[in-house]
Amino acid sequence: MSTMVSPNKKETELSALPEFTPALAKELEPLYRRVASVIPEFEWPVYARYIKAINDLKRERGAIVLAHNYMTPEIFNCVADFSGDSLQLAKLAAQADADIIVQAGVHFMAETSKILSPEKTVLIPDERAGCSLAASITGEDVRQLKAKYPGVPVVTYVNTSADVKAESDICCTSSNAVQVVESLGVDEVILLPDEFLAKNVATMTDVEIITWKGRCEVHEQFTTEDIDELRDANPGLLVLAHPECPPEVMAAADYAGSTSDMSNYVKKEQPEKVALITECSMSDNVAVENPDVEFIRPCNLCPHMKRITLENILHSLQTLTVEVNVDPAVAEKARLAVQRMVDLPLRKVSGPKFRTQQPLAHVEYAAL
Ligand code: SF4
Repeated sequence: MSTMVSPNKKETELSALPEFTPALAKELEPLYRRVASVIPEFEWPVYARYIKAINDLKRERGAIVLAHNYMTPEIFNCVADFSGDSLQLAKLAAQADADIIVQAGVHFMAETSKILSPEKTVLIPDERAGCSLAASITGEDVRQLKAKYPGVPVVTYVNTSADVKAESDICCTSSNAVQVVESLGVDEVILLPDEFLAKNVATMTDVEIITWKGRCEVHEQFTTEDIDELRDANPGLLVLAHPECPPEVMAAADYAGSTSDMSNYVKKEQPEKVALITECSMSDNVAVENPDVEFIRPCNLCPHMKRITLENILHSLQTLTVEVNVDPAVAEKARLAVQRMVDLPLRKVSGPKFRTQQPLAHVEYAAL
């Protein structure tokens, strides 16, 4: 169970921020050059004032900002000390030489950072930043599932609460889920809570999968018609999809992988035109690092990720709120499940794409 201190909602008035003087413009010019392709020049002076205030305060407090790949470009590129997918961020939180971590992401990510770094202060700028997958299941649901399927190991996607992780044998991410399922050496596993990730994993393994009816509210919206329309309008388009998408969308894509996998793939392959079938900001952030690639941008926003702004990051640093805490007994059990995954020898299992043409007969829903 996690407990949080309520934030003081008052955020910094613009008048209290550093002025956008020629000296500040010059100081932040390298940052602006980085994001100029995705942030219009007329918007920059306001962003720059927050960025200066945040970066100065981080140094003063000995704090770092960890930004998920779905953060907007001014956060991802201009105030983040580290960026990546949720698991990379939690590992970075544990390794970082900082006492205060501001998690620019959603609540389960801040909890995972706290689980791996119990001695550090972990802050989330808006405690309402949730996740439809994490909200789809509770620790009690998992206990009931274990009673219904005794002896069947539980694999839990990292997009879950600490309570759910604590009831699990091992965690997984979207890029290592097949590897984790097969590492257990059993014929049947419970893979929670994303039914689409479970179905996509089932196409790549002979292990029987029992799943749950959780869905990512962003990725479930993509359809094969979207992909057909994008391809018709953009000949030669390469389509990369996230494994939280429905199986038929994965089948229609050219490559599947986590946000980090997609980013690495574009960096390495440098396709002429690419569409990332995932949250909107991902394309902006990958585009900054790949100026020669044309990004076609299908856009589904995650409303939870978009709750994090420069304004509330600054407020979080000023007030040291909202602190995320996890009950030590729950954290200890959850840490074991995360650590078992981290300790698995790395084997690449995502891409070139999930074998979605295979029948999905061996997925069973775990309706209680
Ligand atoms: S994009 Fe989907 S999985 Fe990620 S935080 Fe938003 S709702 Fe959750």
